[in-house]
Amino acid sequence: MANSEVTFIMIKPDGVQRGLIGDIICRFEKKGFFLKAMKMVQVERAFAEKHYSDLSSKPFFGSLVEYIVSGPVVAMVWQGKGAVATGRKIIGATNPAASEPGTIRGDYCIEVSRNIIHGSDAVESAQKEIALWFPDGIVDWRSANHSWIYEN
Ligand code: UDP
Ligand code: MG
Repeated sequence: MANSEVTFIMIKPDGVQRGLIGDIICRFEKKGFFLKAMKMVQVERAFAEKHYSDLSSKPFFGSLVEYIVSGPVVAMVWQGKGAVATGRKIIGATNPAASEPGTIRGDYCIEVSRNIIHGSDAVESAQKEIALWFPDGIVDWRSANHSWIYEN
């Protein structure tokens, strides 16, 4: 069902350190997406390398991995119609210099290497990332607000 699309969102170490967890969660929640899993973790280097394995040939790969292991992150799964694409819109462009005001990156950060949040870029990568971060599965619950957000 279209409404059950899920995306993987991670608040990076700078977002955690800067006290932006609440605001970020708030934006996804108020939009109408449903939180289906969440945990705070200090990830190991090998795990960060796996999460970003598609970027392993990039010149910034080493510093990206350093960044992700530099402190705890908050990993989440958000569900809703178009969650992947809309999630990326809420987050804003990769480089905060190009992120529109009103987006998370547009409002809260300056440098691409300190851009506070990750969001899956496609439905397939979301599935892969959720399986990696939440191998025991996500929480199956239905919000009492469902019919106030969706017509069907
Ligand atoms: N990144 C970086 N330098 C770059 C491009 C990307 O440090 O020139 C980092 C940045 O933190 C980005 C992450 O690598 O969020 C993953 O890059 P990707 O292209 O997948 O961007 P995203 O999907 O996060 O917008
Ligand atoms: Mg990406």
